[in-house]
Amino acid sequence: MKIIEHLRRGEFSLSFEFFPPKTQEGEEELFQTILDLRPLNPTFVSVTYGAGGSTRERTRRIAQRIHTETDLTVMVHLTCIAHTKQELLEMLTSYKEMGIQNVLALRGDVPKADDFKPPEGACKHADELVSLIRENFKDYFCVCVASYPEGHPESPNMEWEIKFFKKKVLKGADFSITQMFFDNSYYYEFVELCRKEGINIPIIPGIMPITNFRQIQKFASMCGATIPQSLIDRMEPVAEKPEEVAKIGIEFAIRQCEDLIRNKAPGLHFYTLNKSKATLEVYKAISGLIPRQR
Ligand code: FAD
Repeated sequence: MKIIEHLRRGEFSLSFEFFPPKTQEGEEELFQTILDLRPLNPTFVSVTYGAGGSTRERTRRIAQRIHTETDLTVMVHLTCIAHTKQELLEMLTSYKEMGIQNVLALRGDVPKADDFKPPEGACKHADELVSLIRENFKDYFCVCVASYPEGHPESPNMEWEIKFFKKKVLKGADFSITQMFFDNSYYYEFVELCRKEGINIPIIPGIMPITNFRQIQKFASMCGATIPQSLIDRMEPVAEKPEEVAKIGIEFAIRQCEDLIRNKAPGLHFYTLNKSKATLEVYKAISGLIPRQR
């Protein structure tokens, strides 16, 4: 089923993001995580796509396994910068043949190699991928796009950010999931700016419960997400003690989600890193607040 149909009915969306593991062992762990999270009745789960197409077959295989072996709705991530349009159309056609109806249309990070050049005629930004999907598949797919409450690292300012986010929406994006953030005021201000600019699609906050401080510090600095100083002050002294980090990180994510629910966010998207424990604990603490309808 298309995710946008749930959102249009005003249903609160709960979703979990996974990455395609490299090994058989990792795949078994992922399917255990999926079994653990299944009782939470998520609206959908999503499977990421490796930069430059490095996980093309693995993303497809994991998405297919989830789609055929469980009753979960799957959204596949797809990045365009390193593919020809023909390759993108082939992948989209194979998803359509599998019956997968939800795709997160992304540009992807531009590969760092000095001699990298997008293939001839490639989609150079995500809005072009959204157009490619709409031109070739009409309304078959529900199309999600990424958004950045603190601005994408390549955007010089928020005006620029909103201008190109709007372009993705005008080309046919149905809804958006945000980059992780740890200070909800960035999300609220971003949504307000979008509404002022006439961008009215649902914008689902992306939540990263911190269980490994050093790893998230690295991710956050790469994607331009600010970790509040008060959280750094609590994490830094226990950074090498995983259990204490997870305790603080989960508690922080619970407060963040409670506030987002109270302030009418249309859903919550959890970056799970293929583990269930932190997401389960956050969910347990907030489940009483989750509304059926928005
Ligand atoms: P775009 O929307 O193209 O934007 C990238 C930058 O270019 C922005 O600064 C934007 O303002 C600017 N821009 C946009 N259009 C134009 C234009 N026409 N002209 C000039 N400038 C323009 N990466 C992966 O590799 N795999 C994944 O599975 C993955 N999943 C993600 C999931 C979520 C929810 C999010 C938020 C990000 C994800 N990413 C993933 C990261 C993403 O690929 C990177 O952030 C990438 O650098 C930008 O992709 P985008 O689709 O946002 O690009």
